[in-house]
Amino acid sequence: MICKICGNKFFIKRSFKELLKTNHEQNICNKCLDKYGISLSFQKIVLENYDVMIVSMFKRKEKIDYNLFYDEYSKIFISLMMKKEYHVILEDHLYLDDYKIEEIDGISKMLESNLIILCLTVSDYS
Ligand SMILES: [Zn+2]
Repeated sequence: MICKICGNKFFIKRSFKELLKTNHEQNICNKCLDKYGISLSFQKIVLENYDVMIVSMFKRKEKIDYNLFYDEYSKIFISLMMKKEYHVILEDHLYLDDYKIEEIDGISKMLESNLIILCLTVSDYS
């Protein structure tokens, strides 16, 4: 197969059992998965009245097509949607400065709810 990130040929090792069992197509080689793959991190920020949980999917912003991880993104999104006491908000690359935190605080007050922000990457002002 051809890796959709680096363009190199790669092979997927499967046991005979797995060959029969699944038809799962892997688009990304193991090298790229190690380098760019999903690395979930969680950060909780206490707002004035509510909390926000920031869930970021990748360590840092890279020049890759994040749509390649759409399946994983959907699964994470759905699992977060199950948390009843939270509203889920989606962001691409979240830059957390004072203005952004103020904005998030405003949204939580408007929705009268704790928030979860699911984003690709998060960076802060430090
Ligand atoms: Zn690759």
